[in-house]
Amino acid sequence: MAVLGTLKTFQGGHYFGQFEGSPKGKRIQSKPAPKRVIIPLKQGFGEEATAIVKEGDRVKTGQIIGRADAKISTPVHASITGKVVKIEKRPHLFGGQSTIVIIENDGSEEWQMVSTSPSFEKMTPDQVGKILYEAGVTSVGRAGFPTAYKSSPATPDKIRNLVINAVETEPYFEGENQLLYEDFDKFVNGIKILRQALGNIQVHCGLAYNKARVYEELVVRMEFYDWFYLHELRDKYPQGDDEVLIRTLLDQLVPSGGNATEIGCVVVDVQHVVAAYEAVVEGKPFVERVVSVAGSAMKEVGNFKVRLGTPVRDLISTDSPSRVILGSVLRAMVPADLEAPIMKNTPAVIALKEATKEFLPMAGPGFNKDSFTNSFVKVPFIKKKATTSLNGNERPCVNCGYCVDVCPQSLMPIWIAEASVNDMLERAEALDIFACIECALCAYVCPSKIPLLDQIRQGKKAIKK
Ligand code: SF4
Ligand code: SF4
Repeated sequence: MAVLGTLKTFQGGHYFGQFEGSPKGKRIQSKPAPKRVIIPLKQGFGEEATAIVKEGDRVKTGQIIGRADAKISTPVHASITGKVVKIEKRPHLFGGQSTIVIIENDGSEEWQMVSTSPSFEKMTPDQVGKILYEAGVTSVGRAGFPTAYKSSPATPDKIRNLVINAVETEPYFEGENQLLYEDFDKFVNGIKILRQALGNIQVHCGLAYNKARVYEELVVRMEFYDWFYLHELRDKYPQGDDEVLIRTLLDQLVPSGGNATEIGCVVVDVQHVVAAYEAVVEGKPFVERVVSVAGSAMKEVGNFKVRLGTPVRDLISTDSPSRVILGSVLRAMVPADLEAPIMKNTPAVIALKEATKEFLPMAGPGFNKDSFTNSFVKVPFIKKKATTSLNGNERPCVNCGYCVDVCPQSLMPIWIAEASVNDMLERAEALDIFACIECALCAYVCPSKIPLLDQIRQGKKAIKK
């Protein structure tokens, strides 16, 4: 094992500190299986699976209900035991339509496990890959996990580096940080399992510097593995994004608009490493994940193990008007309704207070708000109160350059945004618009409240058309 670099980081980015309603440090609790689950047959990376059950069928927890082995995809599983009551098309959270399977819980908990053996060390890469695929663990990340089973456009022989993201820096995403402490054994063995599926490759783990206990344990447990590299990183947002993580750890660039497999890397996060262990050693399909339930409007804040397909409504407890966000609060994925289900790539459900009145709305962003500029002194130890407030209306650009300073991709966000809204698409391309990883920091820091990310997304869409 090699320990590389001391407190590596990247140019730009932002340290968020603590927000009110964060579940930081809360132990993971299991939510009881819900009465009903809504399972989209498109989960995480890959194409939509085809339903192999029909309305009226009884299914067990962990039973495969959809698969499309001929396409790049991963099987989808029932996450509770009960009756399939509906199969229909619905709008998918990430755009377009998806077939969903609704299952009603019959109160019994019968599991259908994946056929496996606890001594994973004796398995071939193909055997490990097959279990990961059958257990639904391969539809992870931006390009899936490569196996011999069409789970990714890449194949295992093209991969040289497995990159572990153990440096979660998104505000409120505390579940995976907590998993590192509570499921450390599974995490360590999960790393070995994923490497075994990919063959003789190097593993680079980026770990936030403030996790001293995990760091020390990893040094002891991985000491004799010369393929394992441990990197201590600063917890600056968006360190965990594929492009930023790979650049910091390996000094390699992911092609603009591309993905990590194109340069021989696979990036996985802590939840997926743990799910790999549970699949291969315990035979447990990927039917539940840790979810941070958080936000200034949430009454019951915490980190919970939640069955996939659980409607967001079941996790929310608020007593004030609020906006519900699935996943990143900065990139703001607002579900159309609260029937939206938890999926393999939903690390958090956040409810922010809906701000109705502003104090001096034109005075610009102030401290103690979910907003930041260099013109306001940050007050240490005071938790920010995140609301949906914009803290004032959009105003003309004042050329302060803050958006340029924070951009982790060293882009010129205001120039790209201006080119996008003025239909100067060639200029936007020349400014490398597709290198934008949509971290939203430029819009977050802008004192003029210009919706830079929305404008950049608009430009990308127009160019793709
Ligand atoms: S959203 Fe794009 S342009 Fe804005 S800071 Fe992030 S990477 Fe840079
Ligand atoms: S942060 Fe806002 S005001 Fe400042 S240069 Fe960028 S777009 Fe202009």
